[in-house]
Amino acid sequence: MIKLRGIRKSFGRQEVLQGIDLTVEKGEVVAILGPSGSGKTTLLRCINYLEKPSDGTIHISDFSLDCKHAGKKEIHALRQRSAMVFQQYNLFNHKTALENVMEGLVIVKKLSKDEARKRGIQLLEKVGLGAKLDSYPSQLSGGQQQRVGIARALALEPEVILFDEPTSALDPELVGEVLAVIRRIAKEGITMIIVTHEMGFAQDVANHVVFMDGGVIVEEGPPSELFVNPKEERTKQFLKRYT
Ligand code: ADP
Repeated sequence: MIKLRGIRKSFGRQEVLQGIDLTVEKGEVVAILGPSGSGKTTLLRCINYLEKPSDGTIHISDFSLDCKHAGKKEIHALRQRSAMVFQQYNLFNHKTALENVMEGLVIVKKLSKDEARKRGIQLLEKVGLGAKLDSYPSQLSGGQQQRVGIARALALEPEVILFDEPTSALDPELVGEVLAVIRRIAKEGITMIIVTHEMGFAQDVANHVVFMDGGVIVEEGPPSELFVNPKEERTKQFLKRYT
């Protein structure tokens, strides 16, 4: 349902994605692992066109985008199909939790204010924030802000949710609550691609693990293979550091 073919991205003379091919089935949870600087975040941002790939094609269900020739219309269509959850939450600080979730419902999904409010409340209840509807981001913990970020992504009903190290900005005691929410929505069959350093979580929640290094996919497969019996030396060395 998601196919990336030949995705390349350079920053100046450095090619940080060197032709990425990746296929993700509907309902799959993909964890992208790899050392810092290997291109994980750039790949995720390319899928949503927050970074413009230098080359390659992105297919999401019936939609295809040729990265070299994409115009505004195609980029808009791509973004309708994917939603991003950011490391730093990226909430509107002058809006309440509910207003943050309602924004996409009104502007992108074209719901009326009343409908958006109802749906927004449901989504915030789903991430355990039914009691924080009217709180501003500054009144919420990092874990709560990230859960608003997840509710906001869910509101768009995208084909895929892209998580960029969703717990790396959190104090350790707040990581669990965010992972629990992601785990819960994974069970609902929403397709997700998650860049993470949480090995235990990746092993537990992902059904497809991708190991990147130096701008390429070194190895990929089900967690039962990649974690237990990695084939490539680079994967082995990386995993050793986490066990
Ligand atoms: P990872 O997520 O695996 O840590 P990134 O995708 O963030 O890796 O970065 C891959 C490489 O691209 C790094 O060398 C990084 O310095 C470089 N890079 C990322 N974003 C930019 C940018 N906006 N401008 C220049 N270089 C960048």
